[in-house]
Amino acid sequence: MPKIGFIGLGNMGAPMAANLVKAGEHVHGFDVVAALRDAAAANGVDIAANARSAVENAEVVITMLPAGQHVLSVWKDILPVANQGALFIDCSTIDVASAREAHKLAAQQGIATLDAPVSGGVGGATAATLTFMVGGTHHAFERGKPVLERMGKRVVHCGEAGNGQVAKICNNMILGASMIAVSEAFVLGEKLGLSHQAMFDVVSASSGQCWSLTNYCPVPGLVPTSPANNGYKPGFAAALMLKDLNLAREAAASVHAETAIGTHAADIYQEYAETGSSGADFSGIINFVRAQSRA
Ligand code: NAD
Repeated sequence: MPKIGFIGLGNMGAPMAANLVKAGEHVHGFDVVAALRDAAAANGVDIAANARSAVENAEVVITMLPAGQHVLSVWKDILPVANQGALFIDCSTIDVASAREAHKLAAQQGIATLDAPVSGGVGGATAATLTFMVGGTHHAFERGKPVLERMGKRVVHCGEAGNGQVAKICNNMILGASMIAVSEAFVLGEKLGLSHQAMFDVVSASSGQCWSLTNYCPVPGLVPTSPANNGYKPGFAAALMLKDLNLAREAAASVHAETAIGTHAADIYQEYAETGSSGADFSGIINFVRAQSRA
């Protein structure tokens, strides 16, 4: 059976690798943390002694790592031992410049690549319902799609190398800004005597309607899927939202794009994280808005 090398078996990588195993793939995995290697082994992943052995003879190599520097350092380590015909797919959320640099490094060795960051969080990774936003050549996309479909329900080709990361940060810039806007509206309504239910009933059927309100409402009791119903347990942690907003800020600066609202959203999440809330769900920003609004 063709082998898949999987590097980075953390919150997202572990369930993604487990879903590949469930789908009948032969997965060789590696993480620097021993406890995570043991947990992945219990899910049927063949654990390799190091990243290099995980990719030897692999047809597809997947990385799911924290940030651009980790991806570049792991790819530099493993590219020299990779199969000539291998396809490298990075599913991490990283800066666009590092993503394009990683593609370039692999191309120099004649290895095909995709950047394929995800949305859907740990829940989506576990249920194999992730959305993949994919950058790379059409040919590489066609090769990678069936593998990604084992871990997700939507796989979208966004164009050339790095464009998956571009789509991801643009989406999350909208999400961060819209979650703050929805939170501000609830807090303003509260202070002016409007009930949460009345606000929800009107806005969810009006032009202010958005995903942050109707799928992930920051006020408890209105939408069954909201982390607000569960003490703002993530979900998608504020620290990860801050990371993505900073990636968007960096990318905007690199091409001189004016993203005033996105930049302000990053500043607000920074302040929220500094209150010790970086581990809370990002929709907990409403508590920060409310606290800042005390007269
Ligand atoms: P995580 O920190 O839980 O997992 C990353 C793993 O990489 C860790 O287990 C770490 O030990 C491992 N690692 C680091 N350096 C390594 C190396 N040199 N060799 C092998 N393993 C190494 O993070 P996560 O939540 O799984 O997120 C992974 C990526 O997915 C991040 O880029 C994140 O922004 C993105 N993401 C996360 C979520 C989420 O909800 N958690 C959602 C969407 C996207």
